Amino acid sequence: MEGRSKDADTVLDNNVITASPRLSSKIVRNNTAIENGGLVGLRNLGNTCFMNSVLQCLSNTRPLLEYILGDNYSSDINTTNSSMKGALIKAFSTVIQELWGYPEGSSSLSPAVNTTALKSQLQRFAPRFTGYSQQDAQEFLRYLLEGLHEDVNRVVTKPASRPILPEVDPSLSDNQKAMEAWKRYLRLDNSKIVDIFVGQLKSTLKCTVCGHCSVTFDPFWDLSLPIPSRTGQVRLQQCFDLFTKEEVLDGDEKPTCSKCQVRRKCTKSFSIQKFPRILVLHLKRFSPMERFRGKLNCTVDFPLSGLDLSAYAASRGQGCVYNAYGVANHSGTTYSGHYTAYCKHPYNGDWHEYNDSRVSTVSPRNVVTNEAYVLFYELLAGSPSSSGRASSASGSEDYSERGCRRLAYESMPDHLVFHALEEDFNFNWHSDHQTPPTVQDAYLNFCIVSLELKTHKNMSNQSCLRAVNSVLVFIHESQFYGMKTFFGRLA
Ligand SMILES: [Zn+2]
Repeated sequence: MEGRSKDADTVLDNNVITASPRLSSKIVRNNTAIENGGLVGLRNLGNTCFMNSVLQCLSNTRPLLEYILGDNYSSDINTTNSSMKGALIKAFSTVIQELWGYPEGSSSLSPAVNTTALKSQLQRFAPRFTGYSQQDAQEFLRYLLEGLHEDVNRVVTKPASRPILPEVDPSLSDNQKAMEAWKRYLRLDNSKIVDIFVGQLKSTLKCTVCGHCSVTFDPFWDLSLPIPSRTGQVRLQQCFDLFTKEEVLDGDEKPTCSKCQVRRKCTKSFSIQKFPRILVLHLKRFSPMERFRGKLNCTVDFPLSGLDLSAYAASRGQGCVYNAYGVANHSGTTYSGHYTAYCKHPYNGDWHEYNDSRVSTVSPRNVVTNEAYVLFYELLAGSPSSSGRASSASGSEDYSERGCRRLAYESMPDHLVFHALEEDFNFNWHSDHQTPPTVQDAYLNFCIVSLELKTHKNMSNQSCLRAVNSVLVFIHESQFYGMKTFFGRLA
Protein backbone atom coordinates (compact mmCIF):
# COMPACT_ATOMS: atom_id res chain seq x y z
CA MET A 1 0.00 0.00 0.00
CA GLU A 2 2.81 2.37 0.88
CA GLY A 3 4.42 2.04 -2.55
CA ARG A 4 1.12 2.45 -4.36
CA SER A 5 0.17 5.62 -2.55
CA LYS A 6 3.55 7.06 -3.39
CA ASP A 7 2.89 6.29 -7.05
CA ALA A 8 -0.48 7.96 -6.80
CA ASP A 9 1.14 11.13 -5.54
CA THR A 10 3.73 11.09 -8.28
CA VAL A 11 1.16 10.59 -10.98
CA LEU A 12 -1.08 13.35 -9.73
CA ASP A 13 1.82 15.71 -9.22
CA ASN A 14 3.19 15.12 -12.69
CA ASN A 15 -0.08 15.41 -14.51
CA VAL A 16 -2.44 17.52 -12.51
CA ILE A 17 -0.26 20.24 -11.12
CA THR A 18 1.54 20.99 -14.35
CA ALA A 19 -1.66 21.21 -16.35
CA SER A 20 -0.65 24.66 -17.63
CA PRO A 21 2.59 23.96 -19.46
CA ARG A 22 3.25 27.57 -20.45
CA LEU A 23 2.92 28.77 -16.89
CA SER A 24 5.07 26.02 -15.44
CA SER A 25 7.86 26.67 -17.94
CA LYS A 26 7.78 30.30 -16.88
CA ILE A 27 8.01 29.26 -13.25
CA VAL A 28 10.95 27.00 -13.95
CA ARG A 29 12.75 29.66 -15.97
CA ASN A 30 12.13 32.41 -13.54
CA ASN A 31 11.22 30.97 -10.19
CA THR A 32 11.85 34.17 -8.26
CA ALA A 33 9.62 36.17 -10.59
CA ILE A 34 6.52 34.23 -9.65
CA GLU A 35 7.42 34.01 -5.96
CA ASN A 36 7.98 37.74 -5.73
CA GLY A 37 5.51 38.68 -8.43
CA GLY A 38 2.29 40.51 -7.90
CA LEU A 39 3.79 43.04 -5.49
CA VAL A 40 3.26 46.01 -7.77
CA GLY A 41 0.82 48.87 -7.22
CA LEU A 42 -1.79 50.32 -9.57
CA ARG A 43 -1.98 53.97 -10.55
CA ASN A 44 -4.96 55.94 -9.34
CA LEU A 45 -6.50 57.50 -12.44
CA GLY A 46 -8.81 59.68 -10.33
CA ASN A 47 -11.15 57.95 -7.86
CA THR A 48 -10.23 54.53 -9.29
CA CYS A 49 -9.26 53.02 -5.93
CA PHE A 50 -12.51 50.93 -6.04
CA MET A 51 -11.14 49.32 -9.19
CA ASN A 52 -7.58 48.98 -7.89
CA SER A 53 -8.62 47.17 -4.71
CA VAL A 54 -10.70 44.63 -6.66
CA LEU A 55 -8.00 44.11 -9.31
CA GLN A 56 -5.43 43.32 -6.60
CA CYS A 57 -7.78 40.77 -5.03
CA LEU A 58 -8.28 39.16 -8.47
CA SER A 59 -4.54 39.28 -9.16
CA ASN A 60 -4.02 37.16 -6.04
CA THR A 61 -6.81 34.70 -6.99
CA ARG A 62 -4.64 31.73 -7.87
CA PRO A 63 -6.88 29.80 -10.32
CA LEU A 64 -7.66 33.00 -12.22
CA LEU A 65 -4.04 34.15 -12.15
CA GLU A 66 -2.81 30.83 -13.55
CA TYR A 67 -5.50 30.85 -16.24
CA ILE A 68 -4.30 34.29 -17.34
CA LEU A 69 -0.53 33.87 -16.93
CA GLY A 70 -0.59 30.40 -18.48
CA ASP A 71 -2.23 32.05 -21.50
CA ASN A 72 -4.92 29.35 -21.45
CA TYR A 73 -7.56 32.00 -22.02
CA SER A 74 -6.44 32.95 -25.57
CA SER A 75 -7.85 29.82 -27.14
CA ASP A 76 -11.09 30.28 -25.17
CA ILE A 77 -11.90 33.72 -26.55
CA ASN A 78 -15.45 33.78 -27.85
CA THR A 79 -15.51 35.75 -31.07
CA THR A 80 -19.07 34.93 -32.08
CA ASN A 81 -21.35 36.33 -29.39
CA SER A 82 -19.18 38.13 -26.87
CA SER A 83 -19.94 41.84 -27.18
CA MET A 84 -16.27 42.64 -26.46
CA LYS A 85 -14.77 39.92 -28.72
CA GLY A 86 -12.04 39.30 -26.17
CA ALA A 87 -10.93 42.93 -25.80
CA LEU A 88 -11.82 43.06 -22.11
CA ILE A 89 -10.00 39.89 -21.08
CA LYS A 90 -6.97 40.91 -23.17
CA ALA A 91 -6.81 44.28 -21.37
CA PHE A 92 -7.27 42.51 -18.03
CA SER A 93 -4.52 40.05 -18.95
CA THR A 94 -2.11 42.88 -19.80
CA VAL A 95 -2.61 44.37 -16.32
CA ILE A 96 -2.14 40.98 -14.63
CA GLN A 97 0.99 40.23 -16.69
CA GLU A 98 2.49 43.59 -15.75
CA LEU A 99 1.68 43.00 -12.08
CA TRP A 100 3.39 39.62 -12.22
CA GLY A 101 6.43 40.79 -14.11
CA TYR A 102 5.74 39.48 -17.59
CA PRO A 103 5.20 42.64 -19.57
CA GLU A 104 5.00 41.77 -23.25
CA GLY A 105 8.02 43.00 -25.15
CA SER A 106 9.62 44.48 -22.07
CA SER A 107 11.87 43.16 -19.34
CA SER A 108 11.63 45.97 -16.83
CA LEU A 109 8.99 46.23 -14.15
CA SER A 110 6.98 49.40 -14.06
CA PRO A 111 6.71 51.08 -10.63
CA ALA A 112 2.92 51.22 -10.80
CA VAL A 113 0.78 49.65 -13.49
CA ASN A 114 -1.46 51.85 -15.59
CA THR A 115 -5.04 50.60 -15.93
CA THR A 116 -6.29 53.17 -18.47
CA ALA A 117 -6.72 50.60 -21.26
CA LEU A 118 -8.59 48.18 -19.00
CA LYS A 119 -10.83 50.96 -17.71
CA SER A 120 -11.75 52.09 -21.20
CA GLN A 121 -12.60 48.51 -22.24
CA LEU A 122 -14.69 48.01 -19.11
CA GLN A 123 -16.66 51.18 -19.73
CA ARG A 124 -17.36 50.02 -23.26
CA PHE A 125 -18.83 46.88 -21.68
CA ALA A 126 -20.52 48.68 -18.77
CA PRO A 127 -20.99 52.40 -19.59
CA ARG A 128 -21.89 53.18 -15.96
CA PHE A 129 -18.16 53.10 -15.19
CA THR A 130 -17.45 55.98 -17.57
CA GLY A 131 -15.94 59.03 -15.89
CA TYR A 132 -14.06 59.39 -12.65
CA SER A 133 -16.61 59.32 -9.86
CA GLN A 134 -16.27 56.98 -6.92
CA GLN A 135 -17.95 53.62 -7.54
CA ASP A 136 -18.87 50.58 -5.53
CA ALA A 137 -16.16 47.90 -5.51
CA GLN A 138 -18.59 45.00 -5.37
CA GLU A 139 -20.59 46.30 -8.34
CA PHE A 140 -17.35 46.77 -10.25
CA LEU A 141 -16.35 43.18 -9.45
CA ARG A 142 -19.70 41.87 -10.71
CA TYR A 143 -19.45 43.73 -14.01
CA LEU A 144 -15.82 42.84 -14.53
CA LEU A 145 -16.36 39.12 -13.91
CA GLU A 146 -19.45 39.11 -16.11
CA GLY A 147 -17.46 40.77 -18.91
CA LEU A 148 -14.50 38.39 -18.53
CA HIS A 149 -16.91 35.46 -18.54
CA GLU A 150 -18.62 36.67 -21.70
CA ASP A 151 -15.24 36.99 -23.44
CA VAL A 152 -14.38 33.33 -22.81
CA ASN A 153 -17.86 31.79 -22.74
CA ARG A 154 -17.67 28.28 -24.22
CA VAL A 155 -21.24 28.65 -25.49
CA VAL A 156 -20.83 29.93 -29.03
CA THR A 157 -24.33 29.42 -30.37
CA LYS A 158 -26.75 31.22 -28.12
CA PRO A 159 -30.48 31.37 -28.86
CA ALA A 160 -31.75 34.89 -29.64
CA SER A 161 -33.95 34.81 -26.57
CA ARG A 162 -33.79 32.71 -23.43
CA PRO A 163 -35.53 29.43 -24.29
CA ILE A 164 -38.67 28.67 -22.32
CA LEU A 165 -37.89 25.36 -20.70
CA PRO A 166 -40.43 22.94 -19.28
CA GLU A 167 -40.78 22.83 -15.51
CA VAL A 168 -38.29 20.56 -13.80
CA ASP A 169 -39.90 17.19 -13.07
CA PRO A 170 -41.31 17.57 -9.52
CA SER A 171 -40.72 13.89 -8.76
CA LEU A 172 -36.93 14.34 -8.93
CA SER A 173 -34.93 14.51 -5.71
CA ASP A 174 -33.71 17.94 -4.64
CA ASN A 175 -30.15 17.09 -5.70
CA GLN A 176 -31.37 15.99 -9.14
CA LYS A 177 -33.37 19.21 -9.49
CA ALA A 178 -30.25 21.15 -8.54
CA MET A 179 -28.23 19.29 -11.18
CA GLU A 180 -30.88 19.96 -13.82
CA ALA A 181 -30.91 23.68 -12.93
CA TRP A 182 -27.11 23.77 -13.13
CA LYS A 183 -27.08 22.04 -16.52
CA ARG A 184 -29.60 24.58 -17.81
CA TYR A 185 -27.39 27.39 -16.55
CA LEU A 186 -24.31 25.93 -18.25
CA ARG A 187 -26.18 25.68 -21.55
CA LEU A 188 -25.92 29.46 -21.83
CA ASP A 189 -23.13 30.40 -19.44
CA ASN A 190 -20.15 28.12 -19.27
CA SER A 191 -16.60 29.40 -18.91
CA LYS A 192 -13.46 29.08 -16.86
CA ILE A 193 -14.66 32.18 -14.96
CA VAL A 194 -17.89 30.32 -14.10
CA ASP A 195 -15.85 27.26 -13.07
CA ILE A 196 -13.93 29.41 -10.62
CA PHE A 197 -16.50 31.77 -9.13
CA VAL A 198 -20.07 30.53 -9.53
CA GLY A 199 -21.93 28.58 -6.88
CA GLN A 200 -25.56 27.56 -6.56
CA LEU A 201 -28.04 28.71 -3.97
CA LYS A 202 -31.05 26.69 -2.90
CA SER A 203 -34.20 28.50 -1.88
CA THR A 204 -36.87 26.53 -0.03
CA LEU A 205 -40.46 27.68 0.26
CA LYS A 206 -42.42 25.77 2.90
CA CYS A 207 -46.20 25.90 3.28
CA THR A 208 -47.17 26.43 6.94
CA VAL A 209 -50.49 24.61 6.41
CA CYS A 210 -49.61 21.38 4.60
CA GLY A 211 -45.84 21.42 5.09
CA HIS A 212 -45.14 21.04 1.35
CA CYS A 213 -41.69 22.33 0.28
CA SER A 214 -40.92 23.72 -3.15
CA VAL A 215 -37.31 24.37 -4.05
CA THR A 216 -35.59 26.58 -6.59
CA PHE A 217 -31.91 26.75 -7.48
CA ASP A 218 -30.09 29.84 -8.67
CA PRO A 219 -26.46 30.45 -9.58
CA PHE A 220 -24.59 33.06 -7.57
CA TRP A 221 -21.35 34.97 -8.23
CA ASP A 222 -21.10 36.24 -4.66
CA LEU A 223 -23.17 36.23 -1.50
CA SER A 224 -24.38 39.53 -0.06
CA LEU A 225 -24.49 39.03 3.68
CA PRO A 226 -26.56 41.22 6.00
CA ILE A 227 -24.80 42.52 9.11
CA PRO A 228 -26.89 41.96 12.24
CA SER A 229 -25.56 44.99 14.11
CA ARG A 230 -24.80 48.63 13.39
CA THR A 231 -21.85 48.99 15.72
CA GLY A 232 -19.52 46.88 17.84
CA GLN A 233 -18.44 43.43 16.68
CA VAL A 234 -20.19 40.39 15.21
CA ARG A 235 -18.85 37.12 13.89
CA LEU A 236 -19.09 36.25 10.20
CA GLN A 237 -21.12 33.20 11.22
CA GLN A 238 -23.82 35.52 12.60
CA CYS A 239 -24.05 37.15 9.16
CA PHE A 240 -24.51 33.70 7.61
CA ASP A 241 -27.11 32.83 10.28
CA LEU A 242 -29.08 35.94 9.36
CA PHE A 243 -28.66 35.28 5.62
CA THR A 244 -30.02 31.72 5.91
CA LYS A 245 -32.67 32.50 8.56
CA GLU A 246 -36.25 31.52 7.76
CA GLU A 247 -38.30 34.45 6.59
CA VAL A 248 -42.11 34.41 6.92
CA LEU A 249 -44.10 35.38 3.81
CA ASP A 250 -47.56 36.47 4.89
CA GLY A 251 -50.26 38.99 3.93
CA ASP A 252 -49.69 40.40 0.45
CA GLU A 253 -46.50 38.34 0.07
CA LYS A 254 -48.28 34.99 0.50
CA PRO A 255 -47.17 32.61 -2.30
CA THR A 256 -49.41 29.99 -3.84
CA CYS A 257 -48.71 26.54 -2.40
CA SER A 258 -48.47 24.08 -5.27
CA LYS A 259 -50.08 21.36 -3.15
CA CYS A 260 -52.91 23.32 -1.49
CA GLN A 261 -53.44 25.25 -4.78
CA VAL A 262 -54.23 28.42 -2.83
CA ARG A 263 -52.15 31.25 -1.38
CA ARG A 264 -50.73 30.23 1.95
CA LYS A 265 -48.49 31.70 4.61
CA CYS A 266 -45.07 30.23 3.85
CA THR A 267 -41.53 30.32 5.17
CA LYS A 268 -38.59 30.94 2.87
CA SER A 269 -34.95 30.07 3.53
CA PHE A 270 -31.64 29.82 1.72
CA SER A 271 -28.91 27.20 1.82
CA ILE A 272 -25.82 26.62 -0.32
CA GLN A 273 -26.23 23.82 -2.86
CA LYS A 274 -22.90 24.12 -4.67
CA PHE A 275 -19.85 25.66 -3.06
CA PRO A 276 -17.75 27.60 -5.57
CA ARG A 277 -13.99 27.23 -5.72
CA ILE A 278 -13.65 30.94 -4.98
CA LEU A 279 -16.28 32.31 -2.63
CA VAL A 280 -16.82 36.07 -2.68
CA LEU A 281 -18.64 37.50 0.34
CA HIS A 282 -20.04 40.99 0.16
CA LEU A 283 -20.74 42.54 3.56
CA LYS A 284 -23.80 44.76 3.18
CA ARG A 285 -22.43 47.90 4.74
CA PHE A 286 -24.39 50.10 2.33
CA SER A 287 -27.85 48.57 2.33
CA PRO A 288 -30.06 50.55 -0.09
CA MET A 289 -32.88 50.30 2.45
CA GLU A 290 -30.71 51.95 5.04
CA ARG A 291 -28.78 54.35 2.87
CA PHE A 292 -30.15 57.35 4.78
CA ARG A 293 -28.77 55.88 7.97
CA GLY A 294 -25.27 55.73 6.53
CA LYS A 295 -22.62 53.04 6.43
CA LEU A 296 -22.54 50.18 8.94
CA ASN A 297 -19.18 50.44 10.67
CA CYS A 298 -19.50 47.29 12.74
CA THR A 299 -16.48 44.94 12.77
CA VAL A 300 -17.29 41.57 11.21
CA ASP A 301 -14.83 39.10 12.70
CA PHE A 302 -14.00 36.66 9.89
CA PRO A 303 -11.59 33.72 10.07
CA LEU A 304 -8.47 33.85 7.87
CA SER A 305 -8.43 30.07 7.70
CA GLY A 306 -10.84 27.21 8.27
CA LEU A 307 -14.13 28.96 7.54
CA ASP A 308 -16.43 25.93 7.79
CA LEU A 309 -19.78 26.44 6.03
CA SER A 310 -21.17 22.92 6.47
CA ALA A 311 -23.96 24.34 8.69
CA TYR A 312 -25.29 26.21 5.63
CA ALA A 313 -24.92 23.39 3.09
CA ALA A 314 -28.09 22.18 1.34
CA SER A 315 -26.78 18.64 1.04
CA ARG A 316 -23.99 16.66 2.59
CA GLY A 317 -20.88 15.38 0.91
CA GLN A 318 -19.23 18.51 -0.44
CA GLY A 319 -16.08 20.16 0.81
CA CYS A 320 -17.03 23.50 2.28
CA VAL A 321 -14.05 24.77 4.27
CA TYR A 322 -12.42 27.97 3.03
CA ASN A 323 -9.31 30.07 3.64
CA ALA A 324 -9.31 33.84 3.16
CA TYR A 325 -6.83 35.36 0.69
CA GLY A 326 -8.25 38.77 -0.20
CA VAL A 327 -10.13 41.63 1.40
CA ALA A 328 -11.32 44.81 -0.30
CA ASN A 329 -11.53 47.48 2.42
CA HIS A 330 -13.61 50.63 2.37
CA SER A 331 -12.78 53.50 4.72
CA GLY A 332 -14.82 56.67 5.10
CA THR A 333 -18.51 57.26 4.59
CA THR A 334 -21.18 56.24 2.08
CA TYR A 335 -20.57 59.33 0.00
CA SER A 336 -16.83 59.72 0.22
CA GLY A 337 -14.31 57.07 0.97
CA HIS A 338 -11.21 55.19 -0.06
CA TYR A 339 -10.62 51.59 -1.05
CA THR A 340 -7.56 49.46 -0.30
CA ALA A 341 -6.94 45.70 -0.39
CA TYR A 342 -5.28 43.14 1.84
CA CYS A 343 -4.16 40.08 -0.11
CA LYS A 344 -2.34 36.91 0.74
CA HIS A 345 0.34 36.09 -1.81
CA PRO A 346 -0.68 32.86 -3.59
CA TYR A 347 2.89 31.46 -3.65
CA ASN A 348 4.65 32.71 -0.53
CA GLY A 349 1.61 33.15 1.76
CA ASP A 350 2.54 36.63 3.04
CA TRP A 351 -0.17 39.25 3.46
CA HIS A 352 0.26 42.64 1.78
CA GLU A 353 -1.61 45.90 1.80
CA TYR A 354 -2.32 47.39 -1.62
CA ASN A 355 -3.12 51.09 -1.49
CA ASP A 356 -3.20 52.30 -5.11
CA SER A 357 0.46 52.57 -6.16
CA ARG A 358 1.84 51.55 -2.73
CA VAL A 359 2.36 47.95 -1.61
CA SER A 360 3.53 47.05 1.89
CA THR A 361 3.52 43.96 4.08
CA VAL A 362 0.82 43.64 6.69
CA SER A 363 0.56 41.26 9.63
CA PRO A 364 -2.28 38.72 9.34
CA ARG A 365 -3.33 39.95 12.81
CA ASN A 366 -4.25 43.31 11.28
CA VAL A 367 -6.25 42.01 8.33
CA VAL A 368 -9.64 41.88 10.10
CA THR A 369 -10.92 45.46 10.57
CA ASN A 370 -14.22 47.31 10.52
CA GLU A 371 -13.34 48.47 6.99
CA ALA A 372 -13.52 44.98 5.42
CA TYR A 373 -16.13 45.14 2.67
CA VAL A 374 -15.65 42.31 0.13
CA LEU A 375 -14.01 39.06 1.27
CA PHE A 376 -12.36 36.52 -1.03
CA TYR A 377 -12.11 32.91 0.11
CA GLU A 378 -10.61 29.87 -1.62
CA LEU A 379 -12.02 26.39 -1.09
CA LEU A 380 -9.59 24.16 0.70
CA ALA A 381 -8.73 21.31 -1.67
CA GLY A 382 -10.01 18.08 -0.18
CA SER A 383 -11.67 19.91 2.66
CA PRO A 384 -13.68 17.65 4.97
CA SER A 385 -17.31 17.14 4.10
CA SER A 386 -20.16 16.35 6.41
CA SER A 387 -20.39 12.73 5.22
CA GLY A 388 -16.60 12.46 5.54
CA ARG A 389 -15.96 9.16 3.84
CA ALA A 390 -12.26 9.66 3.27
CA SER A 391 -11.74 10.81 6.83
CA SER A 392 -13.74 8.00 8.41
CA ALA A 393 -11.87 5.44 6.33
CA SER A 394 -8.64 5.98 8.20
CA GLY A 395 -9.40 8.43 11.00
CA SER A 396 -6.57 10.69 9.89
CA GLU A 397 -6.88 14.45 10.32
CA ASP A 398 -4.66 15.28 7.36
CA TYR A 399 -6.93 17.34 5.12
CA SER A 400 -4.18 18.80 2.97
CA GLU A 401 -4.45 18.15 -0.77
CA ARG A 402 -1.66 15.61 -0.58
CA GLY A 403 -3.13 14.02 2.53
CA CYS A 404 -6.49 13.61 0.85
CA ARG A 405 -4.94 12.02 -2.23
CA ARG A 406 -3.15 9.55 0.01
CA LEU A 407 -6.32 8.77 1.95
CA ALA A 408 -8.33 8.52 -1.23
CA TYR A 409 -5.91 6.04 -2.69
CA GLU A 410 -5.51 3.95 0.44
CA SER A 411 -9.24 3.62 0.96
CA MET A 412 -9.93 2.65 -2.64
CA PRO A 413 -13.14 0.57 -2.68
CA ASP A 414 -12.82 -2.80 -4.45
CA HIS A 415 -16.34 -2.81 -5.84
CA LEU A 416 -15.76 0.20 -8.09
CA VAL A 417 -13.71 -0.32 -11.19
CA PHE A 418 -13.11 1.94 -14.10
CA HIS A 419 -12.29 0.55 -17.49
CA ALA A 420 -10.26 2.89 -19.59
CA LEU A 421 -10.54 2.24 -23.31
CA GLU A 422 -7.35 3.53 -24.78
CA GLU A 423 -8.78 4.37 -28.16
CA ASP A 424 -11.51 6.81 -27.34
CA PHE A 425 -11.15 7.34 -23.61
CA ASN A 426 -14.64 6.19 -22.80
CA PHE A 427 -15.20 5.21 -19.24
CA ASN A 428 -17.81 2.88 -17.90
CA TRP A 429 -18.74 2.76 -14.30
CA HIS A 430 -19.19 -0.75 -12.91
CA SER A 431 -20.77 -0.93 -9.54
CA ASP A 432 -22.08 -4.04 -7.86
CA HIS A 433 -24.58 -2.16 -5.77
CA GLN A 434 -27.18 0.50 -6.40
CA THR A 435 -26.24 3.05 -3.77
CA PRO A 436 -25.71 6.40 -5.46
CA PRO A 437 -21.99 7.15 -5.48
CA THR A 438 -20.93 10.06 -3.35
CA VAL A 439 -18.61 12.90 -4.16
CA GLN A 440 -15.94 11.11 -2.18
CA ASP A 441 -16.41 8.04 -4.38
CA ALA A 442 -15.93 10.17 -7.46
CA TYR A 443 -12.75 11.58 -6.01
CA LEU A 444 -11.43 8.13 -5.15
CA ASN A 445 -12.10 6.97 -8.65
CA PHE A 446 -10.41 10.00 -10.11
CA CYS A 447 -7.25 9.06 -8.22
CA ILE A 448 -7.50 5.45 -9.33
CA VAL A 449 -7.97 6.34 -12.95
CA SER A 450 -5.01 8.71 -12.93
CA LEU A 451 -2.81 5.99 -11.52
CA GLU A 452 -4.10 3.26 -13.82
CA LEU A 453 -3.61 5.34 -16.92
CA LYS A 454 -0.11 6.35 -16.05
CA THR A 455 1.32 3.11 -14.76
CA HIS A 456 -0.53 0.38 -16.63
CA LYS A 457 -1.29 1.95 -19.97
CA ASN A 458 2.06 3.62 -20.49
CA MET A 459 0.34 6.73 -21.69
CA SER A 460 2.09 9.96 -22.46
CA ASN A 461 1.39 12.92 -20.21
CA GLN A 462 -0.68 14.52 -22.94
CA SER A 463 -2.88 11.46 -23.45
CA CYS A 464 -3.19 11.07 -19.71
CA LEU A 465 -4.38 14.63 -19.35
CA ARG A 466 -6.92 14.14 -22.11
CA ALA A 467 -8.17 11.00 -20.43
CA VAL A 468 -8.37 12.72 -17.08
CA ASN A 469 -10.40 15.44 -18.74
CA SER A 470 -12.79 12.75 -20.02
CA VAL A 471 -13.20 11.60 -16.45
CA LEU A 472 -14.01 15.16 -15.46
CA VAL A 473 -16.64 15.32 -18.17
CA PHE A 474 -18.03 12.03 -16.94
CA ILE A 475 -18.12 13.28 -13.39
CA HIS A 476 -19.60 16.54 -14.55
CA GLU A 477 -22.33 14.82 -16.52
CA SER A 478 -23.17 12.68 -13.53
CA GLN A 479 -24.65 14.00 -10.37
CA PHE A 480 -21.32 14.95 -8.84
CA TYR A 481 -20.93 18.42 -10.25
CA GLY A 482 -19.81 19.53 -6.80
CA MET A 483 -16.54 17.80 -7.66
CA LYS A 484 -15.76 20.53 -10.14
CA THR A 485 -14.47 22.55 -7.24
CA PHE A 486 -11.84 19.87 -6.61
CA PHE A 487 -10.71 19.81 -10.19
CA GLY A 488 -11.02 23.47 -11.09
CA ARG A 489 -7.41 23.75 -12.16
CA LEU A 490 -7.81 20.97 -14.72
CA ALA A 491 -11.04 21.97 -16.37
ZN1 LIG B 1 -49.74 23.83 1.26
